[in-house]
Amino acid sequence: MKLYEKAPAKINLMLDVLHKRPDGYHEVEMIMTMVDLADRLTITELSGNTITISSQAGYIPLDDKNLAYQAANKIKERYGIRQGVHIHIDKQIPVAAGLAGGSSDAAAALRGLNRLWKLDIPHADMMELGASIGSDVPFCITGGTALATGRGELLTPLPSPPDCWVILAKPPINVSTAGVYGRLRADQIKQHPSAAAMQKAIEQQSFEAICSELGNVLEDVTLSHYPEVQQLKQTMQQLGADGVLMSGSGPTVFGLVSKESKVARIYNGLRGFCHEVYAVRMLT
Ligand code: ATP
Repeated sequence: MKLYEKAPAKINLMLDVLHKRPDGYHEVEMIMTMVDLADRLTITELSGNTITISSQAGYIPLDDKNLAYQAANKIKERYGIRQGVHIHIDKQIPVAAGLAGGSSDAAAALRGLNRLWKLDIPHADMMELGASIGSDVPFCITGGTALATGRGELLTPLPSPPDCWVILAKPPINVSTAGVYGRLRADQIKQHPSAAAMQKAIEQQSFEAICSELGNVLEDVTLSHYPEVQQLKQTMQQLGADGVLMSGSGPTVFGLVSKESKVARIYNGLRGFCHEVYAVRMLT
């Protein structure tokens, strides 16, 4: 038996850090949504009891460090499954980019294995399994658009933002999420974006308000270490994107664009400057 699962990338329309918690995690407020740039997982049953991972991308771990491996391992342990599985990851989402590619692969593996082994896992248990793999995994399980609080695992679903183009550009550097949070001084953040204002903009379906409420407190940390990310933001703004923000801990910068007629110019302008550029739709 073989099945497929799509693992879309996420972007943060806003990301705020409230404080560092005694357990070491940061208390966050984020509004996240999915874009139509996705990895594709092919999940195949194996006759033995092992988990194997393959990918055409040479630069992701294929052992127990792979988040899809961890997802399969957790499901097998929790539900006492003595059946092996092979997961092939057709990697399309840039890695260590702030797009939650690994978390989305883990979420897709959980969804796919739940189907493959007909486990009917209750939603709350899926979310708990996801959170034990990573803070962004619960959101990647549900998808859509959501306000994420706690360390990112507590979700309140929101309506989809109005349909638009999303142009993603990743400069040729890999940024460690843990490194960025490690350098962040939560008590010294100068300007906090507003989750309430972004939520209202989405509820009102106002593309203009969404663009003006974009904000990410991790930008200051990443931009001060990587001037090329700052330059990329400016270039995207100059090329005419309606709203521009770094996603997650970076280094990917995304631009929201309402008019299709602008997309080719922005895409081509960025390609002269950055190798990895994608023009996709928001997944509404
Ligand atoms: P986030 O936005 O959640 O911080 P990210 O987009 O910055 O995620 P990922 O692409 O998820 O980062 O990769 C982060 C690290 O996780 C990489 O260094 C990679 O080695 C490891 N990793 C483990 N499993 C995967 C996977 N399935 N796909 C990509 N990276 C993976």
